[in-house]
Amino acid sequence: MKELADGFKRFAAKADRDFYSGLIAGQRPHTMMISCSDSRIIPEHIFDAKPGEIFILRNVGNLARTEESSVRACIDYAVKHLKVKRIAVLAHNQCGAVKATENKEHLDTEGLKKWLEQEEYTGSDLEGAEKAQAVRQLAKLKEYQTVKEALEAGRLELCALYFHLDPISMETYEDGEWRSL
Ligand SMILES: [Zn+2]
Repeated sequence: MKELADGFKRFAAKADRDFYSGLIAGQRPHTMMISCSDSRIIPEHIFDAKPGEIFILRNVGNLARTEESSVRACIDYAVKHLKVKRIAVLAHNQCGAVKATENKEHLDTEGLKKWLEQEEYTGSDLEGAEKAQAVRQLAKLKEYQTVKEALEAGRLELCALYFHLDPISMETYEDGEWRSL
């Protein structure tokens, strides 16, 4: 508990209380992001966003597993109620979840096995596999009814992003290609 208590005290000492007070009125995020649980990947830091700007679903491997109710609930709420403008899948380099799919015998718990067994390791190297995995999530999102309807109505866009930790850089997936941001 000590790390958390100390961290909260540091945060509370310097937090902008007027800004937090304004958040009581509600949230108006512009983006829903599906990000990896990896502790090195913090969407708000990477995109210099404040609380209230990004509605985040984090899980192992940034998966859009729309057959899971927790994933569906997050998408439904973001798209139908919060009316986000986009859903972004944020992939990253050195992703342990993607690495784990290369040798599925390494998935040594029931939870990891169930969560990752449907994922395929495709591509010539780890970066290729991480990017291919992100693109597959876009395809899954497009098949989900809530997303499909919003896309057809022209009020939602989908994008995939790939974050490099070192050196820091970002790529976006557009028209079938990855490009530097
Ligand atoms: Zn990851």
